[in-house]
Amino acid sequence: MGEPRDPEPATESRTAPIVAAGTTLSPVQEAYSACTTHALGCPKCRDIDRDRCIDGDRLRAAYLEISNQAYRRLADETP
Ligand SMILES: [Zn+2]
Repeated sequence: MGEPRDPEPATESRTAPIVAAGTTLSPVQEAYSACTTHALGCPKCRDIDRDRCIDGDRLRAAYLEISNQAYRRLADETP
């Protein structure tokens, strides 16, 4: 009998991308991503003691609008 071996590392979970290639984000996810990506790179939006910049405000308003529409659609479709 050979030496006990460590189990093979699960290469699949290590190499699998978080979002599969060719997968598109939903409009809500895209709006949220645009909002957070901007906020992380914008010194004014990143500082919680300051107001958001105009772009940050627009992106946040767009995200809220899109997500509210999605919630309304869900509520309408739910019996
Ligand atoms: Zn900003």
